[in-house]
Amino acid sequence: MLITFEGIDGSGKSTQAREIHNALSLAGLKVRLSREPGATPLGEEIRKILLSDSVPVGNLAELLLFLADRAQHVQDVLRPSRSSGEILLVDRFTDATTAYQGYGMGHPLPLIETLHKTILQDIEPFRTFLLDIDPLAASERIRKRGEKKNRIEERGLEFFRNVRNGYLELAKQNPHRFCVLDATLPREELTRSILKDLEPRLLA
Ligand code: C5P
Repeated sequence: MLITFEGIDGSGKSTQAREIHNALSLAGLKVRLSREPGATPLGEEIRKILLSDSVPVGNLAELLLFLADRAQHVQDVLRPSRSSGEILLVDRFTDATTAYQGYGMGHPLPLIETLHKTILQDIEPFRTFLLDIDPLAASERIRKRGEKKNRIEERGLEFFRNVRNGYLELAKQNPHRFCVLDATLPREELTRSILKDLEPRLLA
């Protein structure tokens, strides 16, 4: 069962993915945490290229690199995980590409959809948690962490407004798959909400 965590940078989705992984493991469930980009050896290399300024990366190349990472991840992690019957939590998946490279960078959504069909075939998320936050508040969180912004985080508020709108549009189009959460709520409250949402679905 594939469960994905989505949101703009600084939304806290990685923290929630980790908390949910811990909680489900403690409950005795067979659960695994993965992420994109960077969950496979190829993905790690792609992640380094995408996030640093070591080599120039054009917009189309960027889209294709994120998708190359996904193709390898699907092959090496998602398919074996599905066969084993475990719960797989993934920090970013297809919606990130639609939101960032589609709504954010302006690549045609039908192109992204077509490429996803080839990469995913019958793989699809069962539930997606979208940690929604205003880009200004998210940027403030990143600043407070004191980390240097990566190449993509440098893109500025207008870019992240488009990405956020993209995510919200996807949630509107897929209301049964998405659960949209207010990412400004306290961390523990968000974890509780996600677990409450998942409980009946995991027991069903
Ligand atoms: O979620 P994480 O911080 O690991 O993502 C790494 C970086 O890649 C982030 O800055 C994120 O904004 C960016 N990204 C992107 N397009 C995607 C997925 C991630 O620009 N499809």
